[in-house]
Amino acid sequence: MHNHLIKIAEDFGSPVYVYDAETIINQYNRLTNAFSKLKHLKLNYAVKALSNISILKLFNCLGSGLDTVSIQEVQLGLKAGFKPEDIIYTPNGVSLKEIEIAAKLGVQINIDNLSILEQFGTKHPKTPVCIRINPHVMAGGNTNISVGHIDSKFGISIHQIPLLLRIVENTKMNINGIHMHTGSDILDIDVFLYASEILFETAKNFKNLEFIDFGSGFKVPYKTGDIETNIEELGIKLGKRFNEFSKEYGKDLTLTFEPGKFLVSEAGVFLAKVNVVKQTTSTVFAQIDSGFNHLIRPMLYGSQHQIINISNPNGRERFYSVVGYICETDTFANNRRINEINEGDILCFKNAGAYCYSMASNYNSRYRPAEVLLHKGESHLIRKRETFDDILNNQIEIEI
Ligand SMILES: *Cc1c(COP(=O)(O)O)cnc(C)c1O
Repeated sequence: MHNHLIKIAEDFGSPVYVYDAETIINQYNRLTNAFSKLKHLKLNYAVKALSNISILKLFNCLGSGLDTVSIQEVQLGLKAGFKPEDIIYTPNGVSLKEIEIAAKLGVQINIDNLSILEQFGTKHPKTPVCIRINPHVMAGGNTNISVGHIDSKFGISIHQIPLLLRIVENTKMNINGIHMHTGSDILDIDVFLYASEILFETAKNFKNLEFIDFGSGFKVPYKTGDIETNIEELGIKLGKRFNEFSKEYGKDLTLTFEPGKFLVSEAGVFLAKVNVVKQTTSTVFAQIDSGFNHLIRPMLYGSQHQIINISNPNGRERFYSVVGYICETDTFANNRRINEINEGDILCFKNAGAYCYSMASNYNSRYRPAEVLLHKGESHLIRKRETFDDILNNQIEIEI
């Protein structure tokens, strides 16, 4: 595998993102199998994790739907061949106008605040709408990625249910789904089940539900020792409870999830080349041909992506600070034990499928990297590296 990746870095240049289709397919099937006791399961892949159109097409082939958070993601999904009814649109803080455009395209609308709910319901009482509930359950300890707690901007608070019901009654709008997305760290299945009970309780207020959407937050391991969500246990416990609830509700409801990270994180690696090995009085820096313009998660969230020196996998281990070439502190790893690094070596960053390319920028007027998809034994370029034209593309030179 290491030699294969080095060949890809040679063929397509560095830095480059590489995704493995088989890993994505395996994760999709793993989740589907975990919930095989359910009559109706729907997985809506969260586009924002990795939004390349070829990746979306792969999910379409698997029978997945899409979770989208902007009108542009909706458009991408339609372009990739998804039917509008297989796309849920879950924005927050967007204008009524954008929601109306999405509704017109026929996608499932998911509204997360009472102001827009009242306005939309008044104008379009017949359009089915899902509502995003905030159950105020703290998932994980990192407030950057826990979106269910009391200070979160996401969703309609469960304490506002009376007002929500009044709006629905007054506008006679049609609520066909309820939704929660509590954050990116479901480690404790009991906490998740607790939040689910809140959702079930809320569901009883609505007579025409078709689905209950439990969002995502499945955790994948980043470094050795990390715990991951036990999907199989969740499948058994939530599956059983969901079937019970469906019976109570008097209708076969669909259980929906919208995983991003779980489906694509481990399928991706990021390959970058070491430009300089720089010894200072306090550390040894390995400076790569990249920075937070290509991979910002370590600096934004403190994420620890495992780094392997695939050019020298058997070299003796030494401690390195792996940093980038951006004029800004862009530390990927501190005091990391890595097989001896020489200038020109290729470093491989693991778990680079989710929220890596999709958060890339042109900071320092650098090009965004290429993306390659490994599928059925072949490497396909699915996005070209940018060029100088891309940097200038929307700029207008005026007479000064
Ligand atoms: C980002 C997001 C997801 C995906 O979250 P992951 O942690 O990547 O699985 C799902 N639903 C909504 C509404 C989101 O905003």
